[in-house]
Amino acid sequence: MPIKIKFLGGAKTVTGSSHLVSTDKSEVLLDAGLFQGRRDAFYQINTTFNFNPHKLDALVLSHAHIDHSGNIPNLIKKGLRCRIYATSATKDLAKLMLEDSGKVQEEDVHYVNKINRHLGLPPRKPLYTKKEAGKATKRFRSISYGQRFCIAKDIFVTLYDAGHILGSSIIVLDIKEGQRNIRLGYAVDLGRNNLPMLNSPKIPTGLDYLILESTYGGRLHAPIEEAKVRLKDAINRTIERGGKVLIPSFTLERSQEVIYFLNELIKEKAIPSIPIYLDSPLAIDITEVFQNHLEYMDNQTHQAILQGNNPFELLNLRYVRDQRESKALNIDKRPMIIIAGSGMCESGRILHHLKNNIEETRNTILVVGYMARDTLGKRIVDHEKFVRIFGVEYELNAEVVVINSFSAHADKNELHDFVSGCLPLKRIFLVHGDIEQLQTLHDSLSQKGLNTHIPSKDEEILLS
Ligand SMILES: [Zn+2]
Ligand SMILES: [Zn+2]
Repeated sequence: MPIKIKFLGGAKTVTGSSHLVSTDKSEVLLDAGLFQGRRDAFYQINTTFNFNPHKLDALVLSHAHIDHSGNIPNLIKKGLRCRIYATSATKDLAKLMLEDSGKVQEEDVHYVNKINRHLGLPPRKPLYTKKEAGKATKRFRSISYGQRFCIAKDIFVTLYDAGHILGSSIIVLDIKEGQRNIRLGYAVDLGRNNLPMLNSPKIPTGLDYLILESTYGGRLHAPIEEAKVRLKDAINRTIERGGKVLIPSFTLERSQEVIYFLNELIKEKAIPSIPIYLDSPLAIDITEVFQNHLEYMDNQTHQAILQGNNPFELLNLRYVRDQRESKALNIDKRPMIIIAGSGMCESGRILHHLKNNIEETRNTILVVGYMARDTLGKRIVDHEKFVRIFGVEYELNAEVVVINSFSAHADKNELHDFVSGCLPLKRIFLVHGDIEQLQTLHDSLSQKGLNTHIPSKDEEILLS
């Protein structure tokens, strides 16, 4: 009676994480991430499933990032009827992220259809709508860390803190086969030690097999504390020039981490108490979820908030939901910090702030996340002399500061330490990385005598 894993997505690539575990009695899916890529390929790959979603006994979701959760609405459209297991924080965050993703799909299709109409081409449909995304959240069942839960006839799940974002989990499946038990671990994505507000990743014991992320399988990060020092220096330099600091920020976790550090810097009197604006309705909603799930934060942050030191209630921090208030920030010439999405500067309110501030040398654009190729964010990071915003060319004169040490993914050493903690293991499957990072991690683990494999998309492997 074979136990099989099929690597459906996030295999030899970073996006679209999804893996099917099956026995002769049950089928369980780990994650249902959205593939990101060019528009045509994107639609095709995200709507084609070579398994029957209707037959699934359970879907277990590691965390709320869209590359892990974003294809759940399509699975439901194709017949998924089972429960979706995740922590309560992941459930609440996934609701916001999926509805926003639906809204983005609708807006994107609206834009494409405008062009198609002119070209006489047929209209397209969105991948899914905000309303369809909303249906997904009804299927969620929350489980706490460390709680062993029966999710199929012969499969139990236990979630452990992955230390990656709020509520993120390492998933462990105990699969019964006659008298035997096979224990499979899934650490995708895996966090780092000492990230703001979060506990360090927990190491599960007794695993036979491990599926491991490899985003930074061949690289080392600077310590997270470096991010705080660089943040401080950039802000103080900008204030001296009388300028504004613009932070294009990813709504989930990174915006909250930046606020957490700003709170510390102000308390330590390392930066002056200038106005800070979180100018993103989604990031504001996410920040509220954070405050409703203190139990998923590390003890230090949890206790500090209980004692009234809440980084999200900083006196000079203002939450900007209203678009008029957002636009009014352009008239205000005082030094200030504006945190606004989108992270890669492709859409959202950050575009208005960039348009109004990018040409002045006294201002600073502070980059705290990864900028993909062909995005405005990447052109800014590359210090291109002129950049286009809303079809108009602007001269990039503002200072550009890039802080890479904010990463929420384990680096090469942290991945090795995690694996060492999990030993002995029969086999390790490396996923969620580009080929160079996967290969480097594969080689370094193999040199230690570990049985390591990089599965291809749709490859099926028997566990024995
Ligand atoms: Zn993630
Ligand atoms: Zn991921």
